[in-house]
Amino acid sequence: MNEILKKSAAEQSKALKNKEISAVELTNAAFDRIAELDEKLGAFNSLTKDTAIKTAKKVDEKIAKGEELPLLAGVPLALKDNMNLVGSKTTASSKILENFVSPFNATVTEKLLNNLVPIVGKANLDEFAMGSSNENSAFKKVHNPWDLNKVPGGSSGGSAASVSACEATLALGSDTGGSIRLPASFCGIVGMKPTYGRVSRYGLIAFASSLDQIGPFARTVEDAANLLEVISGHDPKDSTSLDLPVEHYAANLNNDIKGMKVGVIKELMPEGLSEDVAKAMQKAIEDYKKLGAEIVEISLPNLKHSIGIYYILATAECSSNLARFDGVKYGYRTPDAKNLMEMYTKTRAEGFGPEVKRRIMLGTYALSSGYYDAYYKKAQQMRALVTQDFVEAFKKADILISPTCPNTAFELGAKSSDPLAMYLTDIATISANLAGIPGLSVPAGFDGEGMPIGLQILAPQLQESRLFNAAHKFERANDYYLKLANI
Ligand code: GLN
Repeated sequence: MNEILKKSAAEQSKALKNKEISAVELTNAAFDRIAELDEKLGAFNSLTKDTAIKTAKKVDEKIAKGEELPLLAGVPLALKDNMNLVGSKTTASSKILENFVSPFNATVTEKLLNNLVPIVGKANLDEFAMGSSNENSAFKKVHNPWDLNKVPGGSSGGSAASVSACEATLALGSDTGGSIRLPASFCGIVGMKPTYGRVSRYGLIAFASSLDQIGPFARTVEDAANLLEVISGHDPKDSTSLDLPVEHYAANLNNDIKGMKVGVIKELMPEGLSEDVAKAMQKAIEDYKKLGAEIVEISLPNLKHSIGIYYILATAECSSNLARFDGVKYGYRTPDAKNLMEMYTKTRAEGFGPEVKRRIMLGTYALSSGYYDAYYKKAQQMRALVTQDFVEAFKKADILISPTCPNTAFELGAKSSDPLAMYLTDIATISANLAGIPGLSVPAGFDGEGMPIGLQILAPQLQESRLFNAAHKFERANDYYLKLANI
């Protein structure tokens, strides 16, 4: 592999400006790496070489003319395959969209193209972003670059694996209940879910619209902060996007965190954690103390209900969102239906995978008359309590920390026949989506088998700068982020 691929986006940007390498060369290096590795890794559903090279050429033209480059110009990026890019297949890793070609760009894609970020391909995911291990893709599994027998985490497993294995320097994922933070943690990189509404969801294939949020993957906090800046902002095409100015999130990375109140979430410590994760948590607490932070214990009494709440709300929303896949306008249509009703039912039966069907059925049930009050309404009420827990917590702490996941990456197949065990993987991440607050996973060490451990940091709504500052300080107090998967 070309050594430049191991560098951060900030370093690659510098190398481009100093003409140590051209953007076309850098992009081609990423494609060489993908060609050498991706058969083993399975991180990409498709490659978008024409678009990437076209973008890289524009970067090189600008450099040749001595023009200023936009942020992250020329740095290779992988786009989760549930975000639209004109002319590329956008499959959501589902058979029902296997041959769907995007007729328009997602707003995030548009922003990336405006900033001249070469999009190298569409990253594999769990079908419609439903899953925690990336084993639910209709096409192929993604393998963890640190151990190919293990899962990369999901649902943005392809995005995380590609950055971890240096096939791409940056990636975008979507996070509905942890799908950016969990794979970041399993693959030893940084993954960040912004405040709900910070990033436009226009052109993201909807899973659960009140929870979905697009966010960055990178190998350093600084790169993640810059990528968030590129993709953030108000969008008239998404009524839930916030009309607030975009900050330069990397501006405060080095601010002193002396006196910052770091809340340790009691409910996520320490029983239930694997021994190595518990140790890494203790070490993280010590690191924050050394950085001058004040450690406080925080209780989130309703956190224990978050998985139950999520699996009512997320399934209810997905049952409605996925109703559009009926074989009429786009996507797969069964070849042998005798009438309209049969066309609908057969198309959906043949096009959706088992986990997606399970969710649609659960959600339809929760929304049906007679059960609506008992399930959906109750879950909405409980969601307000979880949100309130965070309001109280942030009166006592500036940020909250916990492990991103109670365990490290597990073996492929270990949980695929037990949906409940799989759902429990998200115990630490889901509540941030319910409350709409930003959260991030940053590398925090390794377990006895050398698998990465992630530290989750949460902040109040719109306090992304504080979140990146606290994460960057922790990252630079250690050298975990410098260790790359040996693949
Ligand atoms: N693992 C969770 C689920 O299966 C979260 C997925 C996500 O964030 N997209 O729904």
